[in-house]
Amino acid sequence: MRDLGNDLRWLAINSATIRPWPLRRQIEACARAGITAVAPWRDGLAELGVERARELLQAHAMTVTCLCRGGMFTASDAAGRRTAIDDNRRAVDEAAAIGARCLVLVAGGLPPGSKDVAGARAQIHDGIATLLPHARAAAMPLAIEPLHPMTAADRCLVTTLHQALDLCDALGEGTGVAVDVYHVWWDPALPSAIARARGRILTYHICDWLVPTTDLLLDRGMMGDGVIDLRGIRAMVEAAGYAGHCDVEIFSANNWWKRDPDEVLQVAIERYRSVV
Ligand code: ZN
Repeated sequence: MRDLGNDLRWLAINSATIRPWPLRRQIEACARAGITAVAPWRDGLAELGVERARELLQAHAMTVTCLCRGGMFTASDAAGRRTAIDDNRRAVDEAAAIGARCLVLVAGGLPPGSKDVAGARAQIHDGIATLLPHARAAAMPLAIEPLHPMTAADRCLVTTLHQALDLCDALGEGTGVAVDVYHVWWDPALPSAIARARGRILTYHICDWLVPTTDLLLDRGMMGDGVIDLRGIRAMVEAAGYAGHCDVEIFSANNWWKRDPDEVLQVAIERYRSVV
């Protein structure tokens, strides 16, 4: 297992963590703090402009661990699913333009009014399959991110790492997984799933699970403030061959987003060194 204590090289900051700032300020603040990798979101990228973002990332020699995010393949009708595919093709192009190492996919939940879980999961498979030739042509790996089951209805019907790997097995080259501790820490099958993911872990997201959690989306904790065995999970991920970044992704409307983003970065660095 790598010793991260004196090596900031493997720390990446996801835009979600310092969301109050626009992408330009995020990149500049990370550079000032000695951080060498970031994971932008598409809204921030659109606001700054893909070309300007590319220049800025290059000027600061930033590694882009992943672009968040594509996906949301499920829809009530064929037109809606086509719209989603078109948008995902643009996401692939944007990821390629900024040199991202992968595009994260959040699969999508049930279409409005539907109770057809199996049908929605079929849409997810078919959506990624339709996107895949474009992603392969752009040499942009697709990182399927399983989300905690609490988001199954409205966000992501891929709820476990094994399920994400089943999709990878079915879809083949150009697919892999995003392992986000927030979504997978509880899973009794996590050790076997991470071992099975060898060679297919494209990005690794960290934060913590707070007790109690007051909001299902926007109350993620800073590493060390919750119950996730961060060291234990990183040990498994690295034993499975992952040697990439630890991407700090904290949605926190009532705490970290209310603080000075420079301070948030300093706390993230300190926790990365001490508890990740
Ligand atoms: Zn994530």
